[in-house]
Order: sequence, then C-alpha cells, then structure tokens
Amino acid sequence: MLDADFFHRWLTSVAAAVEREADRLTALDSPIGDADHGGNLRRGFTAVVAVLEEEAPATPGAVLTLAGRKLISTVGGASGPLYGTLLRRTGAALGAEPQVSAADFAAALRAGVAAVATLGGAAPGDKTMLDALVPGADALPTSFAAAREAALQGALATVPLQARKGRASYLGARSVGHQDPGAASSALLFEALADAAEATVTATGETPGE
Ligand code: ADP
Ligand code: MG
Repeated sequence: MLDADFFHRWLTSVAAAVEREADRLTALDSPIGDADHGGNLRRGFTAVVAVLEEEAPATPGAVLTLAGRKLISTVGGASGPLYGTLLRRTGAALGAEPQVSAADFAAALRAGVAAVATLGGAAPGDKTMLDALVPGADALPTSFAAAREAALQGALATVPLQARKGRASYLGARSVGHQDPGAASSALLFEALADAAEATVTATGETPGE
C-alpha cells in the first residue's frame, strides 16, 4: 500500500530530477518555446517540497492536492496550471484514505490525466505533455517500471510530431524535429515515481501495492 510518505518521497524525487534536468528542459523549450520550462518547474517543485515539509499532510490525497495548488500558484507558464491540475485531480480522486493501493493510484492518475486533457484541450499526438502522461498512466497498472518506460518512449516519440497545442503550435511545421519539453518533464515524473517505488522496496522488502 502507498501512504502519504510515499507520495511525499515521489514529489521530492521529482524536484530532484527537475533540478538535475532543468537546463535540458529549458534547452528543449528553446527552439519550440520560450526557454523557460526548466526554470518554471524548478520554481514550482522547490515550492512544493517546501510546503510539504512545512505542512506534512497525512493522506496521499492531501499531499497531492496541496502540491497541485502550490504548482498553480507558483508557476506562471502553461505547465503550472496543467501539472497543478494533474496533481489536484489525482489527489481528489484518492479521497481521504490514509493508504491507497497501486491500482487505486493508477485509476486516480488516469482521472488526473483526463483533467489535463480537458483543461488544455489537447489529445495524444498533439505534441504536448499528454504524449508522455497518457502512455505512462496507461502502463501504471502493469508496474512502475513499465510506466517509466512507456512515458519515456512517449516523450521521445514527440520528436517527429507537429505541435497542435501550446506555444510550439505557433511554429507550425517548424515544430517538427524537436522533443516537446513538457513531454520530457512528464517522463521525469514517471522516472521519479519508479525511483520512489524502488526505494520503498529496498526499505521494506515489499513491492508497493502488493
Ligand atoms: P509556456 O508554454 O507557457 O512557456 P512551459 O514552457 O512551462 O509553459 O510548458 C510548455 C509545455 O506545456 C509544452 O511543452 C507542453 O508539453 C505543455 N503544454 C502547453 N500547452 C498545452 C496544452 N494545451 N495541453 C497540454 N499540454 C500543454
Ligand atoms: Mg515555455
């Protein structure tokens, strides 16, 4: 089972991955955006880690909704409200349970991803974060490792696509040939999730959710 600590560790691990990869995310946002994606997410997830340490919410749902609210209030770019909605909606779907199963989490995350699609009006194939979020969330019932791989492949598969949503869509055909920065950061979310799950296995000898 997954408790509040697990989700706290996940988001701390996302913050570390964003810190490590901020320059790469910004470099991806340079040819087809405004070169701020790494900075946007660094500011957002630094604030998320700080508020989680300060308030230490007791349930998985509360951890994710607090983190989502924080992202919305600290990130100016398009990605702030989108990732904020992802976490808030996933957290809302988890309710007030002190522990949730991996299957509960997978279902909740799909609801969160659906909310991102509604908010942004985008679908897979539009060259956005959804190209990593959708395959990642869909593979989560298999395993955390499968979700990490599916999200990574989804992000890489944005390279030949033409952007139909967000800033990159203004470039039309010139957006082809570049990886979408938001899809790359979404792959980091799943990488951090697999890391958090592996750390749990190491610490407890149990695979989360089993
Ligand atoms: P901004 O575009 O405002 O500078 P960021 O650079 O932080 O914001 O984030 C850009 C990323 O946001 C894009 O690479 C894309 O993945 C994602 N994005 C932008 N618009 C949408 C949308 N309508 N739906 C889904 N994702 C989107
Ligand atoms: Mg940008």
